[in-house]
Amino acid sequence: MEKEVICLSCPNGCHITVQETSPGEFQFQGAKCERGEVYAYEEITDPKRVVTAVVQTDSEEMPYIPVKTDKPIPKRYINPLLVQLYKQKISLPAKCGQVIIQNYMETGVNVVITRTFPLDLGK
Ligand code: SF4
Repeated sequence: MEKEVICLSCPNGCHITVQETSPGEFQFQGAKCERGEVYAYEEITDPKRVVTAVVQTDSEEMPYIPVKTDKPIPKRYINPLLVQLYKQKISLPAKCGQVIIQNYMETGVNVVITRTFPLDLGK
């Protein structure tokens, strides 16, 4: 198996070719640093992404508020997380950084609000 991964760990965006030489053994080519091999290994074996979404609120003025995971989460958890978020309704006021889901599915990942509303709450 051979696959190309673009490392997103820094702006260089190295194109890394990953070759599975035997089951569970990989060779990497094209990474300019060790972080790239770690990134490519994770991307092949357990890819993760930061999730952004909006959640319904109880406010007519701000019916939806943006949220995101505070760390990348394994891709297999993204759909169930989005289903949960789209069912959720939060009460305003809310502050940027406020945790609305803690340690989702024991992943160590929290979901946080990314906007303060109303704005004077941020003062
Ligand atoms: S391999 Fe290293 S230099 Fe290349 S994009 Fe990843 S972190 Fe940056």
